[in-house]
Amino acid sequence: MNQDRRFVFDAGTLALDLLNTWRLDGDLVQDLLGSPEDGLAWLTAAGLPVEAWFPAFSSSPPNRRILLDEALWLRQDIFVITQSLVAGKLPPPQTVHALNRILIESGRSFRLHSVVITSEEKRNERIQDQLVLSSDEHPSSELGVLQPIALSAALLATEANPLRIRQCASEDCIYWFLDTSKSGRRRWCSMARCGNRAKVAKHYRQRSTPL
Ligand SMILES: [Zn+2]
Repeated sequence: MNQDRRFVFDAGTLALDLLNTWRLDGDLVQDLLGSPEDGLAWLTAAGLPVEAWFPAFSSSPPNRRILLDEALWLRQDIFVITQSLVAGKLPPPQTVHALNRILIESGRSFRLHSVVITSEEKRNERIQDQLVLSSDEHPSSELGVLQPIALSAALLATEANPLRIRQCASEDCIYWFLDTSKSGRRRWCSMARCGNRAKVAKHYRQRSTPL
């Protein structure tokens, strides 16, 4: 669960959630990933707790910087991909190449285990020796931490309807989202943030219009 109230995770896909670390503050674009600590906080809020998975790696300042830089490059690549999709074009080859660099990293790893059942259990519970598939909780490399985000971008590029990739209709919001609603008419990044505000503004505009 996202405990960090600075960040929003309602874009409908992790790749666009990462884009939404750019937000509008007045006329200025504010970057919520301004420091390595912000990067680690965002990854943790996104369910990728790199500090817990790789304590030795993430406690080293140069490594924290490297991971932030990788996340920022990925965000830039996702931005380029999103722009290309919306424009009905293929993303530039170098952007695809950059995404592939992370996609080939190992994310979660899987393993088969043999479970041998005692003869008593076999008799009483009528179960046999069996194979169980388990997954490691975390990726096997630090760069692999970013793999779920890259995968989300890859699925956005290959499976999403580009007409459903949109930016919030509010003038003072630049958040992106993937419209997964049935009607396909979602206009706001979230009702709570922008939709209700727009409704109230429209209501007052109508009331103040002379008859
Ligand atoms: Zn919005």
